[in-house]
Amino acid sequence: MESLRELYRIGPGPSSSHSLGVRKACEYYYSLYPEADHYTVELYGSLSLTGRGHMSDKVIYDFFGKERTDVIFMDEITPVPNTMRFYTGDHENMMEIYSVGGGAIAVKDMPPTADPDVYPENSLTEINEVCSVKGWNYAQYVYDREPDIKDHLKQVKDQMITVVKQGLEDEGVLPGDLHLEKVARQIYERSFTAEESIRNRLLISSYAYAAMEQSSSGKTVVTAPTLGSSGIVAALIMYYNDRGVSEDKLLEGLAVAGIIGNVVKTNASISGRVGGCQAEIGTACAMGAALASHIEGLSNAQIEYAAEVGMEHNLGLTCDPVGGYVQIPCIERNGVGVLRSLDAMEYARYIGSFKPNRVSFDMVVSVMKHTGKHIPVEFKETSLGGLAIEVKLNEEKKRAEKLNRK
Ligand code: SF4
Repeated sequence: MESLRELYRIGPGPSSSHSLGVRKACEYYYSLYPEADHYTVELYGSLSLTGRGHMSDKVIYDFFGKERTDVIFMDEITPVPNTMRFYTGDHENMMEIYSVGGGAIAVKDMPPTADPDVYPENSLTEINEVCSVKGWNYAQYVYDREPDIKDHLKQVKDQMITVVKQGLEDEGVLPGDLHLEKVARQIYERSFTAEESIRNRLLISSYAYAAMEQSSSGKTVVTAPTLGSSGIVAALIMYYNDRGVSEDKLLEGLAVAGIIGNVVKTNASISGRVGGCQAEIGTACAMGAALASHIEGLSNAQIEYAAEVGMEHNLGLTCDPVGGYVQIPCIERNGVGVLRSLDAMEYARYIGSFKPNRVSFDMVVSVMKHTGKHIPVEFKETSLGGLAIEVKLNEEKKRAEKLNRK
């Protein structure tokens, strides 16, 4: 498996594949052809269908400069999802680059840019074998395999806390045609006056909203494992930081969550375009459950239980962002997802103590991959089905009714 640096990436929102991955592709292409007078980028498939809402064009214009760049949304589905074609001048230096999820890119006919063997183990079963022989918890395993990762995890932790704090202070409306109000601050304030039993849940949800509203506004955020699902782990880091958990423990939590995300990325997918929202929110929920379980002092077996529950109850979740914006259902889905992560941790702590789980984490990852293959393309980040269509139809109907009344 690859380094956790490839999983936790810091960069511009709102979407790991449509903004962060696109930015990485621009950086790569520009590093090869820095002297060109004019750049053209053609966007295909999901990048074309939802690229405007995901700010793909803005990222490209911002990078190369609008006066010397053309972005073309192509009406064509390519064999590889999220394809970009770059060229300079009049079709010179043509290059095909793919945004493969989580902000990572692949270049046509080139070997992968990241070393796939930083972790020799490729499944949680293999990792469990090593940990049981060595007597390690998952964090010790990560630090053995990747001894220099702590600095990166610290940057990730700091950026997550910054993003949540900024989100709690922000007000106004999110960019795009949905005119959605930022509500993290209101949820946060409401958490102090709500009845005792709901306070904590509202507080943690407000953190997830805060991170996601910043991501949807194009601010610098952290993939965990993607930007559409970046509110869950960030909310938990903020929550445990607030509660006085030490920095070392928070970094260990990120390491453990990272291993869970990496196992999914290696054996299935973390991309909504490939596997539907179960691949994004399901993975983030499993990562959050693992992070919380480690911080709460649970064993490796309980952490696996929690991560499995976090993924299992998101199986089949479709990706249908309204208008192509990572806003509805994405922001609320992170708010609900972080609560589910904590529920999964509590299930592992209490139910897991007397009922062993018959479904391993590797099993549920395999099921997620299989399920993702059978989710129709309309429900995989194309905005051609589900809420994306229903909300649009409903709003058109309301507009027509209003006109008829006049
Ligand atoms: S619906 Fe889920 S997978 Fe799709 S863009 Fe939103 S968060 Fe990402």
